[in-house]
Amino acid sequence: MDKKRILVTGGAGFLGSHLCERLLHEGNEVYCLDNLFTGRKENIVHLLSNPYFEFIRHDVINPFLIEVDEIYNLACPASPIHYQYNPIKTIKTSVMGAINMLGLAKRVKAKILQASTSEVYGNPEVHPQPESYWGNVNPIGERSCYDEGKRAAETLFRDYNYQNNVEIKIVRIFNTYGPRMHPNDGRVVSNFINQALRGEDITVYGKGEQTRSFQYVDDLIEGFIRTMATPESFKGPVNLGNPDEFKIIELAEKVIEKTNSKSKIVFKPLPSDDPLMRKPDISLAKKELNWEPNVKLDKGLDKTIHYFEELIKNLK
Ligand code: NAD
Ligand code: UDP
Repeated sequence: MDKKRILVTGGAGFLGSHLCERLLHEGNEVYCLDNLFTGRKENIVHLLSNPYFEFIRHDVINPFLIEVDEIYNLACPASPIHYQYNPIKTIKTSVMGAINMLGLAKRVKAKILQASTSEVYGNPEVHPQPESYWGNVNPIGERSCYDEGKRAAETLFRDYNYQNNVEIKIVRIFNTYGPRMHPNDGRVVSNFINQALRGEDITVYGKGEQTRSFQYVDDLIEGFIRTMATPESFKGPVNLGNPDEFKIIELAEKVIEKTNSKSKIVFKPLPSDDPLMRKPDISLAKKELNWEPNVKLDKGLDKTIHYFEELIKNLK
């Protein structure tokens, strides 16, 4: 097999570290570029001794040159508390990061995949969401720096392909969870598990009637690899997510049960622009990638709970 040289931006983050691992496992040479804003060296420390792995501390808002065959562009904080911490930086990361990585792809003739998001659908009026839905996004709200940044990045990908023939792939990722999520990133799965394991109150926002569809990280990584391997004519966007839909309150109850926790559920105000429902239509991924998720929430939660149990044990 030919060894490919692959750049993963955001490679020290939750998803990026799993992707680097998989790409190395398949015999590739992997360059992991990250500014360590939300990523951590702990996520990749086990890869550092591999001679085909290299960590590069760099910020994607600045240009970067390297000879590679493929680029996965994941650099961007993903959890609401992290991307709202410095919203101007978030939109810069999405837009300038896309321009810099697309410029690199154009120069070295690399194929490039963009990690887009279900947030491009905003608070959707169509359910489940197919790729053909243009979304319902507030351009001036708390989530806009992320949502509009990702939408602009998709436009840039489309235009670099249209104008400069850069080979592109766009994946729209729905809520993904698993080991190496940041314990303090405020996302619902990591929050509930950590609260349950520590015996703290489980914070359900609103009445917990809003829905999400949770995808285990391994399924997503398989979807990434299959998307990158599609013929040049397939550009996406393609939804990657698990269509099994749960109310947030159901997730809270499930986590309490699985961890045998004495934690109580408390209700907190619903953040503004929090989508009421979200569920991917994955017909396109099934057809074009022959892909569908196969890790059920119960199994994925068990693995994630085990990860956080070990993390908490090691902190003591
Ligand atoms: P994460 O925060 O763990 O990873 C993001 C990584 O990007 C981190 O390592 C961070 O340090 C790095 N980064 C941030 N800004 C950077 C910059 N300016 N320059 C270089 N590196 C930078 O989040 P994640 O869940 O692994 O998400 C990865 C990608 O997938 C993001 O682009 C995110 O928008 C997208 N995504 C994730 C989900 C999900 O549910 N996890 C859903 C939709 C989309
Ligand atoms: N949520 C919650 N309690 C928490 C964290 C999140 O009830 O401690 C809710 C949040 O309001 C949202 C859902 O869980 O409706 C998913 O939130 P997350 O931040 O994980 O992802 P996103 O909103 O981006 O889908």
